[in-house]
Amino acid sequence: MKNRILDSAKIMGVPLTDEQADKMVKYHEMLASANKQMNLTRVPDDINEAADRNYLDSLNAVKHLDGVSALIDVGTGAGFPGIPIAIACPHIKVTLLDALQKRVGFLQSVIDELDLNAEAVHGRAEDAARKPEFRDAFDVATARAVAEMNVLCEWLLPFVKAEGRMLALKGPSAEEELVRAENALKQLNAEKVAVHPAPVPGRDWEHKIVEIRKTAPTPDRFPRRASAIEKKPL
Ligand code: SAM
Repeated sequence: MKNRILDSAKIMGVPLTDEQADKMVKYHEMLASANKQMNLTRVPDDINEAADRNYLDSLNAVKHLDGVSALIDVGTGAGFPGIPIAIACPHIKVTLLDALQKRVGFLQSVIDELDLNAEAVHGRAEDAARKPEFRDAFDVATARAVAEMNVLCEWLLPFVKAEGRMLALKGPSAEEELVRAENALKQLNAEKVAVHPAPVPGRDWEHKIVEIRKTAPTPDRFPRRASAIEKKPL
C-alpha cells in the first residue's frame, strides 16, 4: 500500500514524504482494525481499492490549498478527506467535525497516534457554525459524501472567512448539483470558482471537486435549524 500511495500521489502532483506515506498506512491499519468493532465506514478488502478510494481520492483536495492555514472538514466520518489532508499538510490546522460520537473518538486516537496538527469535534454543522470559535474562522471548509450541494453550501459557508472557500468532493453529478444550488449560492453570498477534475491514477471514476468562494459575510439567519433545512432546502 505504501508504494502505491507514494507513486500515485506523485503522479497526481501531490508528492508525499516517506514518513507521510507511513502515516497513511498506519491510519489504514487503525481504521481497518477499529472497523471490526464499530462500523465506522466501508473499508474495501482490496488494499489497492482502499488506497485509491480513501487516501488518494482525499489527496486531490490538497492541490487547492495553497496559502491555507485553517481548514474544517464537515461530516468527516472516519476522517475523509480531513486526515489525509492533515498528514500531507502539517502546516494546516485541520478541524474534523462529525455528528456521530463514535467516529469522533476514533479520530482522536488517530490524531494522537500520528501526532497530527488536528482536532476532532463532535457536533452537527448547523450547531457548530453558530459557535463564535467556529463561525467565519476557516480559510477552507471541505466535505465528501455528506449532502446535496445546496444543503452543503448552507452547512459549510458559515464556517469560512469572507473570501474563504469551500471544496466539495463530488461525483459525476457535480455540475447538475451546482445548477440546483444556484439559489443557495445567491442567498449565502457565494459564487462558483470552478469544477476541478479529481482523477485517481488507474481509475475511470468521474470524481470532481467543486470550488466555491464566499464573497461577503453569511447572513446571520444561516445556517437554519436542521428541521428547517430539511423541510425547505435553499
Ligand atoms: N466524509 C466521509 C467520507 O467521505 O468517507 C464520511 C461520509 S458519511 C457518508 C457522512 C458523514 O456525515 C457521517 O459520518 C455523518 O455522521 C456526518 N454528518 C451528516 N450530517 C451531518 C451534520 N449535519 N453535521 C455534521 N456531520 C454530519
